[in-house]
Amino acid sequence: MDMRDDVLEVLVSAEEIQKRTAELGEEIGRDYGDRNPLLICVLRGAVVFLSDLMRSIPVHVMVDFMGVSSYGGTNMDSSGVIKITRDVDTNIAHHDVIIVEDIVDTGLTMKALVDLLNTRGPSSIAICTFLSKPQRRKVDVDIRYCGFEVPNKFVIGYGLDYDENYRNLPFVGVLKPEVYEKRKEEKG
Ligand code: 5GP
Repeated sequence: MDMRDDVLEVLVSAEEIQKRTAELGEEIGRDYGDRNPLLICVLRGAVVFLSDLMRSIPVHVMVDFMGVSSYGGTNMDSSGVIKITRDVDTNIAHHDVIIVEDIVDTGLTMKALVDLLNTRGPSSIAICTFLSKPQRRKVDVDIRYCGFEVPNKFVIGYGLDYDENYRNLPFVGVLKPEVYEKRKEEKG
């Protein structure tokens, strides 16, 4: 079974993603020069984005990972209270941090993460998100680098999942409604 058959609509193609990540990488390179920023990749959704982005940054960067899940939230909606499931190994004090995220939706997760990291004394924190859904924002989030703005739809692919699947699609898309119905039935 080909998972691409589950896709109703492609919102951002693999070619567009490739072009945009290259632009963002160049921009980060220009902005940071020899400051050796630390990219903190938010697991698991931002892994695919990180992988392309970091290879298009032409200056020295370091990489670390953070696992974040939202307390009491569902796969489709976040609660704003975050649980750190994996913390960075790096002491971020006096580092220039760039948070690499898959999507900023309500902004609640990102705000909580920035507030937490700020308590650790970094020199600076910038947000680099692959996608943003500005129509859904509940709190203000200062996004320095954004790949694409997407409409208020649940998107999958290029790292973003539905029920842990579809992360390996090379593009961003929307699923057919019957996929959700079928998954719900299977889970009872
Ligand atoms: P926020 O706290 O900004 O509402 O949500 C952030 C998290 O919710 C993202 O990191 C992502 O895990 C999840 N999320 C929000 N919108 C979507 C979406 O359209 N598709 C997927 N797969 N996850 C989303």
